[in-house]
Amino acid sequence: MRETPDPGCENGCVSSPTPPQQARAAAIAAQIAGLTQAGFILPGTLTERMTRCGYTNCRCRADPPQLHGPYHQWTRKIAGKTVTRILTDDQLADYQPWFDNQRRLRDLITELETLSQEIADNDPRWQR
Ligand SMILES: [Zn+2]
Repeated sequence: MRETPDPGCENGCVSSPTPPQQARAAAIAAQIAGLTQAGFILPGTLTERMTRCGYTNCRCRADPPQLHGPYHQWTRKIAGKTVTRILTDDQLADYQPWFDNQRRLRDLITELETLSQEIADNDPRWQR
């Protein structure tokens, strides 16, 4: 399904990462290693929500309304279904760093993908 390599192509026609690109990739790899050694990552997103309850005489239905919360809502997909859980304050304190790790890890992977894409895009063999 792929074209066979041009037999006349020597090393000179293959673009390799530049020293700054190699340095950036090494820095990203070091940060990813640091993150994954440091602990855990939790998937999903954490949001603060204010809610109304089901009681008609409650303060959350007064004018002006005083809503309940804020609640720390953890939303994620499990087998294609959105699952929501409410975290207590001490759960939030325990798990917030795990959510932060996940976001940071995702950003680093995105950056590494972008960098790798740049290198692959500059490969002169695409032009053949
Ligand atoms: Zn209420």
